Amino acid sequence: MQNPGAIKEPSFRESVDLMFNRAVALMDLPPGLEEKIRVCNATYTVRFGVRLRGQIHTFTGYRSVHSEHMEPVKGGIRYALSVNQNEVEALAALMTYKCALVEAPFGGSKGGLCIDPRDWNDDELERITRRFAFELIKRDLINPSQNVPAPDMGTGEREMAWIADQYHRMNTTDINSQACVTGKPLHAGGIAGRVEATGRGVQYALREFFRYPEDVAAAQLSGTLDGKRIVVQGLGNVGYHAAKFLQEEDGALIVGIAERDGGLFNAAGLNVESVHGWIAKHGGVTGYPDATFVADGASVLEEECDILIPAALEGTINLNNVTRIQATLIIEAANGPVTAGADEYLRNKGVVIIPDMYANAGGVTVSYFEWVKNLSHIRFGRMQRRQEESRHQLVVDELERLNRNIGDAWSISPDFKAKYLRGADELELVRSGLDDTMRAAYQSMREIWHGRDDVTDLRVAAYLVAISRIEQSYRAKGL
Ligand code: GLU
Repeated sequence: MQNPGAIKEPSFRESVDLMFNRAVALMDLPPGLEEKIRVCNATYTVRFGVRLRGQIHTFTGYRSVHSEHMEPVKGGIRYALSVNQNEVEALAALMTYKCALVEAPFGGSKGGLCIDPRDWNDDELERITRRFAFELIKRDLINPSQNVPAPDMGTGEREMAWIADQYHRMNTTDINSQACVTGKPLHAGGIAGRVEATGRGVQYALREFFRYPEDVAAAQLSGTLDGKRIVVQGLGNVGYHAAKFLQEEDGALIVGIAERDGGLFNAAGLNVESVHGWIAKHGGVTGYPDATFVADGASVLEEECDILIPAALEGTINLNNVTRIQATLIIEAANGPVTAGADEYLRNKGVVIIPDMYANAGGVTVSYFEWVKNLSHIRFGRMQRRQEESRHQLVVDELERLNRNIGDAWSISPDFKAKYLRGADELELVRSGLDDTMRAAYQSMREIWHGRDDVTDLRVAAYLVAISRIEQSYRAKGL
């Protein structure tokens, strides 16, 4: 809900289009193709009834397909009361560009259901989800080769398992039925590392950014991630994993956390795991010890810090608060957290923004691995792991033999031996594939960012990479 007197801004969909237009103005696309890429191909609206608590409740849901230059199309399903057609279409467009940027071979799609999942118990949610899935499945808007949903805000592994089961019940002879949706639990056709994937991708994106001192300098920073002060907005799946990994593995200080019911600040750093545990127990951050609490959570975004990670809803950095943002590096873990107007203001101020379509692409990247796993019907690493271990064993045995011959002059440390001997399991392979994807995509953006005089920010660079790949795909099809 906007405050009375708040500055009015373009809608989310218009905001995405404005950013798209800024990029295509720098390209030489054939006439008509620009429009073809920008528009949403189709949006299906469904209203269905479910009998719950003795009466029929009508729910409204959407599945939007933005671009089918590659199929299946891909994108999550969101459960929130704020879901609407404009939002679903903006998110579907972002999925198209995101998949192109990280070379996940999909078109873009997104779905949403206008519902507050906290209003319903588990059994009711299952019935609502299955009914929504039924409506989409019968129109091929959920299908392993045409349209593959995944989790988004308000949904997770549980909903994906219900959807997969519903699809299977309606397509009992489809041997690839598990590939109709990603983000499933591990025991129901999921893949190791999918839950953490988007947050992990944010960490890998920041690590890659910090490998280039000139990029770090452009964000008015220096050195490494160690000791950098970070404010995170939203400790949901994405924000929690990103903050946790950056704190535990990169030495960053999480100085601020903004949540629905308020915000926490502690210049000495908050313990992410403990705040997360507090939220799980108390339903919010209110009352958390070891931090200063402010009832207006959004004000934490304006605290002094080096890196700001908006990981909640779209439009949270807008013309009403942008002038008070102090961070010089923003990484968009959420989709569309910075409005087009705020983006322009921050760019002019010299703030570096690592854009959503890159920053949060870890989720769809690991979804891609899951889909491939489902289609190949075999877990990653199953064929190679022991073979890899036995080859490593050969090297260790030989080194130990040589060592004995030269009289124990040196020896292999037990720690090295244990690590070296262990063949990669699925989780390690998934992380390695994700890291490689995030690095390659960053490099493709920065080549344009630094290589073209008319490109001054990473968002336009990301759009240029994505749109030119989509263009190539359309050309190959003869459009
Ligand atoms: N909902 C996530 C996103 O916005 C994941 C999509 C997917 O895995 O298909 O990127």
